[in-house]
Formats: sequence, structure tokens, C-alpha cells
Amino acid sequence: MNKEYSKEELSAALKNYFGFSGFKGLQESVIMNVLAGRDSFVIMPTGGGKSLCYQLPALISSGTAIVVSPLIALMKNQVDFLKSLSETEGIAHVLNSSLTKAEIKQVRSDVRSGVTKLLYVAPESLTKEENIEFLNRVTISFVAIDEAHCISEWGHDFRPEYRNLRKIIQRLGGEIPIIGLTATATPKVQEDILKNLGIQEATTFKASFNRPNLYYEIRPKTKSVDADITRFVKNNEGKSGIIYCLSRKRVEELAQTLQVNGIRAIPYHAGLDPKTRVKNQDMFLMEDADVVVATIAFGMGIDKPDVRFVIHNDMPKSIESYYQETGRAGRDGGEGHCLAFYSYKDIEKLEKFMSGKPVAEQEIGLALLQDVVAFAETSISRRKFILHYFGEEFDNETGEGGDMDDNMRHPKKKHEAKDQLVDLLKAVAQTHQKYKAKEVVHVMRGKVNRHVYFWHWK
Ligand code: ADP
Ligand code: MG
Repeated sequence: MNKEYSKEELSAALKNYFGFSGFKGLQESVIMNVLAGRDSFVIMPTGGGKSLCYQLPALISSGTAIVVSPLIALMKNQVDFLKSLSETEGIAHVLNSSLTKAEIKQVRSDVRSGVTKLLYVAPESLTKEENIEFLNRVTISFVAIDEAHCISEWGHDFRPEYRNLRKIIQRLGGEIPIIGLTATATPKVQEDILKNLGIQEATTFKASFNRPNLYYEIRPKTKSVDADITRFVKNNEGKSGIIYCLSRKRVEELAQTLQVNGIRAIPYHAGLDPKTRVKNQDMFLMEDADVVVATIAFGMGIDKPDVRFVIHNDMPKSIESYYQETGRAGRDGGEGHCLAFYSYKDIEKLEKFMSGKPVAEQEIGLALLQDVVAFAETSISRRKFILHYFGEEFDNETGEGGDMDDNMRHPKKKHEAKDQLVDLLKAVAQTHQKYKAKEVVHVMRGKVNRHVYFWHWK
């Protein structure tokens, strides 16, 4: 049982360990809840300060907190950071399959003696029998599950191993409190997380997802997309930016195009050898390069505060991904321009990629993609759209950042289309709702193809 902490003591611990003078957003309430031994569910956007919600209570609780996180690189960063906060060498450890026997021995002895306050574990390692047996014998303060959306097929980063966590935690001992944390806030994913972790009674802490300093813009993607991107980057010379592309090939091409145009751009994707990848990432972080052209492999855990623009050469697979990726802009609260190039052809390509997958996965994928299309094609406030997607009401007349998108700054021209709409509905009805939107458009435009021909002469 933990001793009870007053707010003053918590603030002192915050200052003492982290050097921060105050809590951010809901951190303090979350920490109180964790220390009280209750289950917690924390939904905060990226950069909201989720890590502290388990790091601080772990540091001041008796026993060791287990932190489950999907990426080894992220765990290592956090462990290094925690070690830098304390004189105690073994205050935090990673337990994974890359450790030597001697290292494992050291970790175990530190955990057993209570020196280790946070033990980071990949979900795969947690399923190992020997680790379960070991952890079963030590005092665990609580279990933190970071990036908890990995549990849900409706999330953007499903990891099947996350599904077993509940069972394993049960095996570690009776009433171990759980704290789940994620930056994905769609109601479906939330439900999945609570259900799967068996923490339906958890106190939920949800921060606003509004990022008022980000400007959202979608442009049609045409043949001139290279020139469009080059012009945009040139107009923002010297500023840091990330350009996301779907394929490695496109990353290489676009990085070269930008380089040829005198822009300090570098490529980043999982196909590069690890050394080059690290070098390129460092170049970007150290500002030896202004622009990184990357696949989604780039950015997890990147905390560069002054990224001034994020460009999507291709639309992402879901609104969550779009939000995560654009979220890397303007973390310092300064300018953050989010520009995405949209073409329905790209959506069709993404649909095609999915056609080889199991049916259930396809259905989910297509539903997520439909929301991306709706977002790209909407003429309402983009911010309102995104926040609504995350279950948050937003009034773009009075809300912060209400005019920070292309639709609000440059409203699309409206025109009376009642007659066309009636014709369209007729066409859909007369073709017995058998054709895809694309073919119906052909019908409307009188363009003859196989289907339209058939329909005309039937
Ligand atoms: P998340 O996991 O929600 O994306 P992080 O935990 O990585 O966010 O925190 C984002 C940044 O905010 C980090 O640089 C962290 O040091 C900083 N931070 C967290 N809490 C505070 C605080 N109370 N005061 C100042 N900075 C904070
Ligand atoms: Mg985090």
C-alpha cells in the first residue's frame, strides 16, 4: 500500500525528479488516481505528457512498475532519460530479448532488491514463461500500458501480442492496478482498450485533441505535385519539415527532386541500412537537413519541437494516422502548416493493397479509408471534422483555431445543384445501384465505357 501524497508533495517530487515547475493538463489527477491504486485510462494527444503520468508515480511508489511499450527504441530512450534523472544506476531497465545473460541477471537483481522503479517490457517478452515466473515473485506497483491502441484492430497500429496482456497481468498477482495510455481517441478504440484490458471501471482522463496552432490544408494532387511541393518548401526556406510518402521509391524520388532544387532534404525509410537511417535522423534533428522525406517509419518518438510543416504526398490510411503525423508539426506551439495532397486514385490504390488481406481486416481498413475521403472532400471546418472524429464537439465560430484551415479561410464556392442531384439519383436508381461512384460519374458525363454502353442499349 502506498502512502498518501498531498498535492504539495507531488509538486515537490515533480520538481525534484524532472525539474518541472507544474503539471501539464490532467497529469496531476491521473497521478493521484494511480497512486490511489485505481485503474486509469488516459487519452491525451501526442506530446500531451503521458509518460509522466506513470513515471512519477512509479518513482515514488514502493515496488517496480511494469511499462509495456511496443517499440524498443522508445523504451531505450525513456530508460536513458530516467537514468539521467537519478543517481541510482538501476532505477529503470529494459527487459527484452536483446540482453545478454549477464545483463538479464543484473536487471533481475535490481528488480528484486527494489532499486528498479520502472521496468520496460515489450509485449513479446512479457509472454515468456520465465519472465512471468520471475515477475510473479517481485513487488509490482502497477502496470502501465503505453500506446494502448495497439490492442485494437480499429486502431492504426494493431499488435496482436497486446491482446494477451490482460491474462498475463492476472498471472502476475492479484489486484495490480493498470494504467492504459493512448493518443487515439475514437470511441471504438477506447471501448476495445477498456474491454480488452478488463478495466471497464477505470477512471478515464481525456484531454482535448485540439491543436489550435496547426493549419490544415488539402490540395488536389495533380501531375504537378513535385513542383507544388518544391514551391511550398522553397517558400518556407530554412524551416524544418517532414514530407510523408507511402512508398520507399517515392521517398527516394522526391528527396532527390528536392535536393536537385537546392533544398537540404534527406530520405528516411525502413529500407535504408540502420546506419544511414540513424545518420539521416540525426541530420534532421541537428538541423543539418531541413526536410526529411519519409515513410511512416519516421517519427515515432521524434520530439523535435520546431517542425514547421508536415506534408502528405499521399493521404494516410486513417484519420488517426493523419492526426498523429500532422501532430509532429508545431509542438512548441508555433507555426505548423499541415498540407496534404489528395487524389481519389490514391485511395483506390490503398484499397487495392488491402484486397489481399483477411476480410475482417479489409472491412475495417475500408471504413477507415472512407473517413479519410470524407475528410479530404469536406467543405466544413477541418478542425471540427477531426475533433468530431475523436468524439469531441468543436464550435468553429468560438473555438480556438476555428479559422485555421483552408475551408474556413477560403470557403469553397457553393452552387445550386438540385437538378443535377435529381439526375444523379435517377441514374443510380436506373442502374439498380449496381455501379461504383466512378461509373455513375461516367454515366452522368455521357462518357461511354463498357458499363455505360451496356446500360444505354439494354
Ligand atoms: P506523449 O507520450 O503524451 O506524447 P511525452 O510524455 O513524450 O508525451 O511528453 C511530451 C513532452 O512534454 C516531453 O518533452 C516532456 O518532457 C514534456 N513534459 C511532460 N510533462 C511536463 C510538465 N509537467 N512540464 C513541462 N514539460 C512536460
Ligand atoms: Mg508517449
